[in-house]
Amino acid sequence: MDYQSTRDSALRVSSAQAITSGISSEGGLFVPAALPSVTAEEIRGLCGKSYTERAAFILERFLTDFSREDIIDSVEKAYTAEKFGSDAIAPLAHLYQGTYILELWHGPTCAFKDMALQILPLLLTKSARMLGIEDEIVILVATSGDTGKAALEGFKDVPDTRMMVFYPQDGVSAMQKRQMTTQEGGNVAVCAIEGNFDDAQTGVKRLFTDEGVKHKLSASGKRFSSANSINWGRLVPQIIYYFSAYCELVENGEIEQGEQINVVVPTGNFGNILAAYYAKQMGLPIKKLICASNANNVLTDFIRTGVYDRNRGFHATISPSMDILISSNLERLLYELTGRDDEKIRRWFGQLSQSGRYEVDEDVKAKLQELFAAGCCDDDQTRGTIREIFEQYSYLCDTHTAVAVKVYEDYRRETGDMAKTIIASTASPYKFSASVLSALGADVESADEFEKVRILSRVSGTQAPQSLLSLQEKQVRFDGCIQPSQMQETVYGMLGIRE
Ligand SMILES: *Cc1c(COP(=O)(O)O)cnc(C)c1O
Repeated sequence: MDYQSTRDSALRVSSAQAITSGISSEGGLFVPAALPSVTAEEIRGLCGKSYTERAAFILERFLTDFSREDIIDSVEKAYTAEKFGSDAIAPLAHLYQGTYILELWHGPTCAFKDMALQILPLLLTKSARMLGIEDEIVILVATSGDTGKAALEGFKDVPDTRMMVFYPQDGVSAMQKRQMTTQEGGNVAVCAIEGNFDDAQTGVKRLFTDEGVKHKLSASGKRFSSANSINWGRLVPQIIYYFSAYCELVENGEIEQGEQINVVVPTGNFGNILAAYYAKQMGLPIKKLICASNANNVLTDFIRTGVYDRNRGFHATISPSMDILISSNLERLLYELTGRDDEKIRRWFGQLSQSGRYEVDEDVKAKLQELFAAGCCDDDQTRGTIREIFEQYSYLCDTHTAVAVKVYEDYRRETGDMAKTIIASTASPYKFSASVLSALGADVESADEFEKVRILSRVSGTQAPQSLLSLQEKQVRFDGCIQPSQMQETVYGMLGIRE
């Protein structure tokens, strides 16, 4: 299977090339030239299989230049009970009648980013080997909190790779910051920037596509790649868990084989929900894709009106991993919905970078609304939802998941759609202990981050993840903070390259 760029349909690369380069040189994103389909028979066949077997099945459909051995090796090393707490890898919890929570946060960093970032380094190093690349691979990451830590954990001490993470100084939770600044590994560095996530992401994208920087790196035997969800290698592992969750529901007798379900996703960069869209297009019986946003509701407006407009205030919310006004992966969706019209994509995304706004055609808007529903909620509603579902259903969820639950409940009330529903849960509540505790009405202002974790454990009667508790003893290794304009020199500095 070949891959093409959303801004140049004529371009053709293999999956190994798409994964090692991250982004296409003209600024487009790689997408499969044709989506593979999965039959009802094959879905039935996946039921009763392990997570790793399901993962291998999906990956083989997309990564056709990989050998079977390489795929099996990757899934078996990435998705272990040791790293994810149990063989379920992504377990389903029953919330209430017909509604299930897909817990995607049992990996090493307690956020759903591990689902992709535990396997990406394996796919990337195998791709580089396949292509005969001898350069050291330099991964630059812009993070709203969770990607950075998950990427650092995935890539730490992986031979022939270096990694540098940029995060918004005031845009991540105390625990997220602690996770990153104490990161171990000889090949990694972390740096805060004075700005928000969009500033970090724009800076990273600029470095990636700057020819001068590229030559400079190349002269010292290095090349960039990306671990952000613009990299195809991040997206494809996310398709797996939607198939897996569906099989779980069939196995447990919760749904009939072939029955349509809804999927709700708390959304930021549009990667996770795009993976659900791909699963649907491949043949997984998904009825509605429900896109949940916090106060940064640019996607809610877009899905409802067809106008994407990032010219609005930026809100720092209690669900910081969704504080994003430029959702990169929307480009991949629009490429599909326009019938792969690279000309239109260039025009719209050119307008986005120039004026911060574009408007899609009527027929694209109609398709968008047939596939998706959208909603948003503010911090008070998020806190109210955390408290309500803890009190009524004894289920403790984090702030991002609560946004999704609230948006789903609004959707169900407004539409009367009672189809069985999976809500993606993207982080452990312990990553956001302060906000979760305040939602539960506990006053913990004076407690430090680790006391808050212990209090949350006591108040909720749930167990705190050891990987978070153990951060208390770790040394801070990275405390730098720079202006976005200094990103290039900072990267050169880390790599020992002279300007
Ligand atoms: C990254 C993240 C999101 C947003 O996911 P996208 O794929 O960027 O839409 C939501 N919740 C949490 C906890 C995250 O880490």
